[in-house]
Amino acid sequence: MARVAVVTGGTRGIGKAISIALKNKGYAVAANYASSDAAAEEFRKETGIPAYKFDVSDFKACQAAIAKITSDLGPVDILVNNAGITRDGTLHRMSAESWQSVIDTNIGSCFNMSRCVIESMRERKFGRIVNIGSINGQAGQYGQVNYAAAKSGIHGFTKALAQEGAAQNITVNAIAPGYVDTDMVRAVPPNVLEKIVARIPVGRLGKAEDIARGVLFLVADDADFITGSTMSINGGQHMY
Ligand code: NAP
Repeated sequence: MARVAVVTGGTRGIGKAISIALKNKGYAVAANYASSDAAAEEFRKETGIPAYKFDVSDFKACQAAIAKITSDLGPVDILVNNAGITRDGTLHRMSAESWQSVIDTNIGSCFNMSRCVIESMRERKFGRIVNIGSINGQAGQYGQVNYAAAKSGIHGFTKALAQEGAAQNITVNAIAPGYVDTDMVRAVPPNVLEKIVARIPVGRLGKAEDIARGVLFLVADDADFITGSTMSINGGQHMY
C-alpha cells in the first residue's frame, strides 16, 4: 500500500509542486486548499490528485477533513504543512485582523493539522511531518512582523515536536524557502522584487520544484535520522 501524504495549500504554488512530486514518487496524495475552486479543479484535472477544501486555521474543519481523507485513502503517514498567507504592513499600521489571520493560517494550522494526525502516527510508529517556514522567519523582514513571527514560530514548533516524536519514528523537520516564483511573490512590487533578486547569490528566484525536492528528501522512509532540522532552500541568500 502506498503511503498517504497530505499537503496543505497543495493545489497552487509550492504546494502544487510538492503534491506532484510526491505523487510521482508513488505516494497517495491528498491536496488541500482554502477557496480557489477554479485552480483546484484545474489541478485535479491536470494531476488526478484529489483536492480537499477546508480552512487549516479551523481546528474542527481539520478534524473533519482528516477523518474524510483517512476514510478515502487510509491513515496519514506524511503531513506537509505548507498553506500560508501574507498580510503585509508595518506594525504601526497593521490591523489586529491582519496579525491574527497570519498567525492562525501559518502557525495555528501546524498545531491543528499535526494534532489531528499525531495519535495515529504514534500508534503506527511512523510519521513524517514537514513544516514550510520561510527565510523571513529566520532573518525577519520589514513590513512582516506577523508573517515573521508565525514563520519563526514554525521553527520552534518543529524542534519541540521532533523531540516528542523521535521514539515513535515520527520525524519533524522544517524547510525555510527563500523567494520562490509563485503568486505570493508575484504580489511583491516589481521594484522591490528586483532588489531581492539582486541579493540572491544564485541569481534567480527559486522554483516551486526546488522546495519539493527538499520535501521528498525529508519524507523518505530511510530519512529516519533526520529530525528537528531546518533545511534552508534559498539560493544562498541567507546562510544560517
Ligand atoms: P500561494 O501560491 O499563495 O499558495 C498558497 C496555498 O495555500 C494555496 O493553495 C491556498 O489555497 C492555500 N491556503 C491559504 N490559506 C489557507 C487556509 N486558511 N486553509 C487552507 N489552505 C490555505 O503560496 P506559495 O508561495 O506557494 O507558498 C506556500 C508556502 O511557502 C507558504 O507557507 C509560504 O508562506 C511559504 N513560503 C513561500 C515563499 C515564496 O517565495 N513563495 C517563500 C518562503 C515561504 P487557495 O488556492 O484556495 O487560495
